[in-house]
Amino acid sequence: MRQGLVVQGLSKSFKGAPHPALEEFSLSLAPGSCTAVLGPSGSGKSTLLRTVAGLEIPDRGSVLLDGQDLATVRPERRGMAMVFQRPLLFPHLNVLDNVAFAARIRGVPRRRARADAESFLELVQMQGTGRRAVTGLSGGQQQRVAIARGLAARPAVLLLDEPFSALDPELRSAMHELLSHVREQLNPMVLMVTHDRDEASAVADQLALISEGTLLQHSSVEAMYTRPVSLQVSRLMGGTN
Ligand code: ADP
Ligand code: MG
Repeated sequence: MRQGLVVQGLSKSFKGAPHPALEEFSLSLAPGSCTAVLGPSGSGKSTLLRTVAGLEIPDRGSVLLDGQDLATVRPERRGMAMVFQRPLLFPHLNVLDNVAFAARIRGVPRRRARADAESFLELVQMQGTGRRAVTGLSGGQQQRVAIARGLAARPAVLLLDEPFSALDPELRSAMHELLSHVREQLNPMVLMVTHDRDEASAVADQLALISEGTLLQHSSVEAMYTRPVSLQVSRLMGGTN
């Protein structure tokens, strides 16, 4: 049964850091929702995503997907896909095989994996580029391929860590449309880090504001601006970037 993603009391400290990267951090995502994570640099946004993805082991707390505690579930089996600011594509594989990679390592036969990859390339409007070298693509095209590769694993949760911030503004709004298209087609939960409040408002239905590893407010975009729970929230939401 679909219950969504529940993050409960996550704490994570790194040696030598001035404050915990995450402290008693709790957050729930409803099925099909898109939450943008905002907060100052160093506030724990990437650590949150990495911990949810299983790339970081929390000191305390848990991550539950549809009621299942993921503590012992390895990253590649969590039903999550993560996309970073810089697309990490395999330079020695062409576009199609980059997208087909996840299916291939799961043992899906090459033909089926490739046919599947083709349909995900179409979803990100990169159809017909399968045989091209990834090194010849623009930054925006590479990011589309990275998203297609993530989606090819059919994740329940899409984790995006500043996925569009290296792209120029025009390309960025095209990527916002792409994301809403992906949501309509596949309906994953989306947790997306951005430092751009306008981007957050454009793509997300919920905002989560984080500071020094602590969740300050999680609410609708509108409520974040019109009903901040504290002076700190209104300062962070109202100030210049
Ligand atoms: P953000 O993504 O919001 O900029 P991060 O999650 O990257 O923040 O970092 C949160 C805090 O944890 C920062 O103080 C950062 O220096 C620290 N930190 C993150 N990853 C590591 C690491 N691997 N080793 C040591 N400190 C880290
Ligand atoms: Mg970060």
